[in-house]
Amino acid sequence: MSTGEFDDAMHMPHASQDFLTLAMLSVGIDPDSFHTLEFVRDGFMSRTCITCPHRRRCHSHLEAFDFESHYRDFCPNRDNFSKLLAKRYDA
Ligand code: SF4
Repeated sequence: MSTGEFDDAMHMPHASQDFLTLAMLSVGIDPDSFHTLEFVRDGFMSRTCITCPHRRRCHSHLEAFDFESHYRDFCPNRDNFSKLLAKRYDA
């Protein structure tokens, strides 16, 4: 492994890092509500995050606090976020 590859690996967001909670907060979803927890479990959203090919990009936007303006372009959970956001106004 070259020094560059090592540096890249060190800066890769760790697979277990909880991007889902941060992403939800960023788009305006309450990650702790009963409905959200149920939906996350049934929709395999955590698994989608852990295997997501866009974690680096996601991490950068979360860090820059502009995830909510960009996630629709790349996030594999975007439709799930839309469903959760739509549900928020159903209650
Ligand atoms: S871009 Fe990937 S890691 Fe980020 S919230 Fe969406 S699915 Fe999860």
